[in-house]
Amino acid sequence: PAHKSMTPTVDALVRPAIRALRAYHVPDATGLIKLDAMENPFAMPDKLRQPWLAALGEQALNRYPDPRASLLQTTLRATMGIPADMGLVLGNGSDELIQMLALALTEPGRKLLSFDPGFVMYRMIATFAGLDYVGVPLRAEDFALDLDAALAAIEKHRPILTFLAYPNNPTGNLFEADSIARIIEASPGLVVVDEAYAPFTDHSFLSRLGDWPNLLVLRTVSKMGLAGLRLGYLAGPAEWIGEIDKTRLPYNINVLTQTSAVFALRHAEVFDAQTQMIRTERERLAAALMAMNALQVYPSEANFLLLRMPVGSAGRVFEGLKSQGVLIKNLDGAHPQLRDCLRVTVGSADENQAFLAALTAVL
Ligand code: PMP
Repeated sequence: PAHKSMTPTVDALVRPAIRALRAYHVPDATGLIKLDAMENPFAMPDKLRQPWLAALGEQALNRYPDPRASLLQTTLRATMGIPADMGLVLGNGSDELIQMLALALTEPGRKLLSFDPGFVMYRMIATFAGLDYVGVPLRAEDFALDLDAALAAIEKHRPILTFLAYPNNPTGNLFEADSIARIIEASPGLVVVDEAYAPFTDHSFLSRLGDWPNLLVLRTVSKMGLAGLRLGYLAGPAEWIGEIDKTRLPYNINVLTQTSAVFALRHAEVFDAQTQMIRTERERLAAALMAMNALQVYPSEANFLLLRMPVGSAGRVFEGLKSQGVLIKNLDGAHPQLRDCLRVTVGSADENQAFLAALTAVL
């Protein structure tokens, strides 16, 4: 029939780049010890629960939230030490800020550059926004930046936007600060240092904002124990932040998140104590894994460890752990440099013990 040629089909309408994507997969963790997503294992302490609920109870749900989240901005600036002369924009998770950056800068043929293996959302969001993705391989042996390769790729591709995760996910290491400085200097576009794992390292580029006109620092409250709130923040020269802010949807930080985050930041010492415990557990877990002599443990400044298993065993170990009630992340097949690799989030002492026991049994 004549109308048939007019039938809208998925193939005809959806952009080929989106058709070719696989949706970001979040596995079902029901009933499992959840060590797959770099969450803080500790709940909000009981003594904070009542005052938190009371603060929420005072909020109006019939009104839109403060569109600028002014109180939260002030509180974040004071708690996180964001330089007063820098601009600040908040996102529904740092993922949303990566997307806002891409939307503000995209034009056909422009490029987003990052380092592989790295955080998968840089590539996915480049695709959403119509930017070409350039992935520069990290050094195979230790996942360090290959500075010559990075500078050559910047020269060749002239990226409009470059992301460096510091520490890097999924490898856990910190890149050389001097190499990052060289990359910022050589870049014709913006360079975003993504400090999602800042609570677990003493190193940061936050205090270096302003040293270069094209440096921005991206952070999140997710890994400090507030992943459920979905709150990220991006700091940098006010002129840049003002433009990126134009791509922000109105009211992107809901009133429950604004209130809860202000409350939590006023009790930052509670979350600092938790992240400190996780750092201690990270060293204990790494030492126990190394003592097993069966696998390679990569150094980590984050709240997870990258492990390289005996050749060909990653899938079996991952499934074996799952059948024993422990969910981690299987990275075998995610990138050529991650063959035989698994990633485990540092949990509570009990969770880590359960993981170690399960791993011993599986191996
Ligand atoms: N950046 C990096 C390097 C990450 O690993 C993650 C989360 N896995 C994010 C950003 C996103 O964090 P969120 O959206 O929860 O703020």
